[in-house]
Amino acid sequence: MRIGVYPGTFDPVTNGHLDIIKRGAGLFDKLYILVANNINKHTLFSVEERIQLLKEAVVEWPNVEVVTSPLLTVEFAASVGAKAMLRGLRMVSDFEYELQMATLNKNLNDQVETIFIMSSHEYSFLSSSSVKEIARFNGDVSHFVPKHVELALQKKR
Ligand code: ADP
Repeated sequence: MRIGVYPGTFDPVTNGHLDIIKRGAGLFDKLYILVANNINKHTLFSVEERIQLLKEAVVEWPNVEVVTSPLLTVEFAASVGAKAMLRGLRMVSDFEYELQMATLNKNLNDQVETIFIMSSHEYSFLSSSSVKEIARFNGDVSHFVPKHVELALQKKR
């Protein structure tokens, strides 16, 4: 059984994340979405809220499970028997950070690979931060996030 882990902050989940999840769900028999619970990183949505928004967004993929964990990402991956962690790459500017993380994780556990999926063209500009910024100024985010995420963003205003 091929198991993968897609880690991220997902504050909140966007259609760009969902594009990666959909494509990742086709590559792995089981794909865990690991929601970061990093107390040093300020998030608009709590970890519980981010998990709930993701769960609603992935109901159509039965092999996708949304979780959080106190373990280091690579240790979580090893603990569920995952061979690979999945990350999305948008533009060249993502590359440096992602290379650093992948190299660090490889040093922590060389049994777990990091695999990258290139963003689809229509989502290459999309980030959770930009969606939050648009929503904060009452802009239209309906093309960028699922309906229930749009409503959750409205409630945070
Ligand atoms: P993190 O804080 O771990 O970067 P994010 O939720 O911002 O968490 O992103 C999680 C992963 O999803 C990262 O690999 C990021 O590059 C990827 N990602 C985010 N937005 C998109 C998008 N629009 N298209 C493809 N990948 C994306």
